[in-house]
Amino acid sequence: MAPSCSPVNSLHVAVIGAGAAGLVAARELRRESHSVVVFERNTEVGGLWVYTPQSEPDPLSLDPNRTVVHSSVYDSLRTNLPRECMGYSDFPFVPRPEHDESRDPRRYPNHREVLAYLKDFAREFELVEMVRFGTEVVLVEQDGRKWKIRSRNSDGVTRDEIFDSVVVCNGHYTEPRVAQVPGIDVWPGKQLHSHNYRVPDPFKDQVVVVIGNFASGSDISRDLTGVAKEVHIAARSKPSETYEKLPGANNLWLHPMIETARKDGSIVFKNGKVVQADTIVHCTGYIYHFPFLNTNGYITVEDNCVGPLYKHVFPPALAPGLSFVGLPWMTLLFTMFELQSKWVAAVLSGRVTLPSEEKMMEDTNALYAKRDANGFPKRYTHRLGVVAQVEYLKWIADQIGEPPVEQWRNQELEGGYVRLSTQSDSFRDKWDDDHLIVEAYEDFLRQKLISAIPSQILG
Ligand code: FAD
Repeated sequence: MAPSCSPVNSLHVAVIGAGAAGLVAARELRRESHSVVVFERNTEVGGLWVYTPQSEPDPLSLDPNRTVVHSSVYDSLRTNLPRECMGYSDFPFVPRPEHDESRDPRRYPNHREVLAYLKDFAREFELVEMVRFGTEVVLVEQDGRKWKIRSRNSDGVTRDEIFDSVVVCNGHYTEPRVAQVPGIDVWPGKQLHSHNYRVPDPFKDQVVVVIGNFASGSDISRDLTGVAKEVHIAARSKPSETYEKLPGANNLWLHPMIETARKDGSIVFKNGKVVQADTIVHCTGYIYHFPFLNTNGYITVEDNCVGPLYKHVFPPALAPGLSFVGLPWMTLLFTMFELQSKWVAAVLSGRVTLPSEEKMMEDTNALYAKRDANGFPKRYTHRLGVVAQVEYLKWIADQIGEPPVEQWRNQELEGGYVRLSTQSDSFRDKWDDDHLIVEAYEDFLRQKLISAIPSQILG
């Protein structure tokens, strides 16, 4: 739908969360002349990237009444994608001449650099003035044609306010998913989820089994090899005969999934290998969680599918008052946050219109039918991947009259994922796509987003 020229409505909009999604949502909503309040339960912006050495008291985070620690960042974390493709379109995530030595100029920088970037972004676009820190949203529900938000501040004082619209950006890497392991109830060792992993020191001289072999599983197992006696990765995607000693460490093995955990402390893998383990670390991902949301059962989370949602953003019967920014994964996340936010802002102002509720529902059901026909489980509904993400981002860009995502950005994502899965010990320091880095910086220079290309980029 082609956007019309001028905004029509200026609405009062609540944004939940001041992470990478909520910050850009606030910026785009304000650009579109809406008045915005961002609710943030933490005391600073940055969301997931605000590292804390604290973890939750319940190491598997199963207790629904536990004190929640938002961040899942571990101390050694570096980005898993090249920085050029991670930034917002008009504020590149690049080293700048004004940065001091506390900053990390590497292509795959540490988590502190990402937080510093998000703080720079918030400062540059004067976003902090919209954020109400230390304020947790505890209830969101419809109030006639508007939306009621109940929030609680750090003194425990609750307050109800009415908004025209609510944009949910609460992040989805805080509520762990734990693997089902046969025999685990009688197994005497310790277990934790990667959400509560910070540093390797507590695992000194231990035999550790890490379940999961994607970004966190791979990182954490390598982090552990420096202090643990042995580290064994159990990977669901590997064939049952898998048994490999992995490069880059002398105490790291790859196995298929666990067959059973036994009372005597042993772990039996599907390849028949048996290890006497002290700890299991579940690097098995997270689930979407909206404890504050009351839609009278309209929106559900079933096997990690949040629905029904038109294009992963608008619930057809509640649109455009309620929207979600940031649900899909395996994509250029910051780019997607920005495009989804622009779309939401333009729909709210009336510059762009949504199809009828029936048409949105038809489209959503078609997505579910395609997912089922391809044999994907529900939990893959919001997984995009390198091909689908190009189409998805192009579709949103078309809605709002934005140019398509730069090709170099998509190529960096694709190459980045390949390196991540094929050279897990070295992907952050060795690559063969220098030409894409040059292309990215030339693009930034052409758009006057940087004043010069750093000499080391040009080699
Ligand atoms: P978050 O950053 O989680 O922010 C959500 C915010 O909402 C938080 O500040 C939280 O305090 C607030 N909030 C939540 N509930 C409430 C409430 N009820 N009331 C008020 N405030 C609330 N992505 C990349 O692009 N590159 C990477 O290298 C990368 N590495 C990652 C590594 C790990 C270990 C993990 C877990 C994720 C990684 N990601 C990476 C994905 C990352 O999640 C996104 O980059 C992005 O930061 C998520 O932003 P968000 O705003 O959606 O969520």
